[in-house]
Amino acid sequence: AEEMLIRSEKMSIAGQLAAGIAHEIRNPLTSLKGFVQLLQGGISSKDEYYKIMMDEIDKINTITSELLFISKPMTDDKSDENINKMLHDVITLLKTQANLYDIDLVLEADDDDDCMVYCDRSQIKQVFINLIKNAIEEMTDGGMIHVLVKNDGEECMIAIKDQGPGIPKHLIHKLKEPFFTTKKNGTGLGLMISNQIIDNHSGRLEIESENGQGSTFSIYLPFNGN
Ligand code: ADP
Ligand code: MG
Repeated sequence: AEEMLIRSEKMSIAGQLAAGIAHEIRNPLTSLKGFVQLLQGGISSKDEYYKIMMDEIDKINTITSELLFISKPMTDDKSDENINKMLHDVITLLKTQANLYDIDLVLEADDDDDCMVYCDRSQIKQVFINLIKNAIEEMTDGGMIHVLVKNDGEECMIAIKDQGPGIPKHLIHKLKEPFFTTKKNGTGLGLMISNQIIDNHSGRLEIESENGQGSTFSIYLPFNGN
């Protein structure tokens, strides 16, 4: 019975999600249709319209590629992975983008105490990328992003600390909801997907923030995350 309950809960989340997706994709499509009609009528400011149309197409593209990830967490491909090494790789990948905004990405880890976690490598990597990208996107004036890894013997803790503007307390619970975004070109799917992936590893994602004090996103992963 409990399993049935969990399943029906999942169904309603899928339903909610479907409604949100339909809405998010219909908006740019409606706008595109309008511009095509304008262009059919023969208009002088074509370049401007083409630019807006490209932006709308990009938006649909981003949403659909992020959605592909939602379908993936269900099929696992788990093995023992070195979390410290994965973070090192992700940071190397994102360093160029960070430096562009005067941001220092720093990995702080216990030497000789790497976290080995049974996990889906590409999914967990996606979580790290999502969280570090969010931190970068908040720090428009530059600064430091600290990535901490700790092995407490029972679970692996990964914390991403930024020096961004922080999140007002009353908004923190909204962050994991699909389509909540404060960005002009955001999808509001990154944290929902990340949370779902962490859930799928029997872990948890904790968000701490004071308005104006920066934010910390902490991931806790049990070593045997089935
Ligand atoms: P997106 O990045 O597309 O907006 P996310 O799900 O990744 O979607 O994030 C949702 C929202 O959570 C962001 O738009 C932002 O308002 C807030 N947020 C996420 N990370 C941070 C952070 N490090 N500092 C402040 N706000 C954040
Ligand atoms: Mg994001």
